[in-house]
Formats: sequence, structure tokens, C-alpha cells
Amino acid sequence: MSGLKNCARCGRLFAGEGRTVCRKCQVAEDDDYSIVRKYVRDYPGASVFEVAEATGVEEEKILHFLRDGRLQSQGLASMLECERCGRSINEGKYCSACVKELQNEIGHILPSKNNMDKDIPKSSKDRMYTKENKNR
Ligand SMILES: [Zn+2]
Ligand SMILES: [Zn+2]
Repeated sequence: MSGLKNCARCGRLFAGEGRTVCRKCQVAEDDDYSIVRKYVRDYPGASVFEVAEATGVEEEKILHFLRDGRLQSQGLASMLECERCGRSINEGKYCSACVKELQNEIGHILPSKNNMDKDIPKSSKDRMYTKENKNR
């Protein structure tokens, strides 16, 4: 059956198009989110640790909200670091410079048409070399 998948949070099978967690977990997550959001609004300078202690929501979850870009706070933003270079960022996983570099890298990995054309004569040459090696 299409549309059935495992909840990313509790692992239960559920039917949900475009969602990663089941309805039960979605409610729990939304609860956490609204609690955290409310606290952050009242205490904009609070660190992730302080927010986690005050709300009872795990730090990891708060950071997850931040990475998703759902939660924004001056105090919390400084906790986020680019996973590549460690520079502090406001949202997401990478700083804008690294995003650019990563996009370039992906562009290099993907074979362009020119490279594929060059590969054809090269591979037939390789076959000739292996023949010579066998004779040795
Ligand atoms: Zn679930
Ligand atoms: Zn970076």
C-alpha cells in the first residue's frame, strides 16, 4: 500500500503523505515547539541549555527546530554552527559560503557530457594495457 511509512520518531507504521512522523508524534512535537517558542519569545537571550531546562524539551530537539528554521532567537542562534567550517550561522546546516562550495563540488562530481566522451577512448586504451600486463 502506498503512503504507509514508519514514523521517524516512534517507528510505528502510519499513513501520512508528506509527513515523517505519525499524528501522535506530530502533536507531541508541536507541543514541544510551541512551549519552546513561547519561552524564547519571553526570554530572547536564553541559551539552548537554559531553554531546555526551563521547558523540559531536549536540547537536541530545540536545535532541530533551529536547524529547520522554525525557531529563531538571538540567544539560540549563536548555538548553531556550520557543520563544515564551524562558523556560527542563524539557520540551516551550513554557512552561505559552504553552501556555495558544496554546490560547486556537486557540480564537479556529476559527469558532464565532455567527460563522458573522453572516457570512451580511454577505456579501450586501458583494455590494451591490461592485455600487455597479462603477457608480462
Ligand atoms: Zn510516531
Ligand atoms: Zn561553513
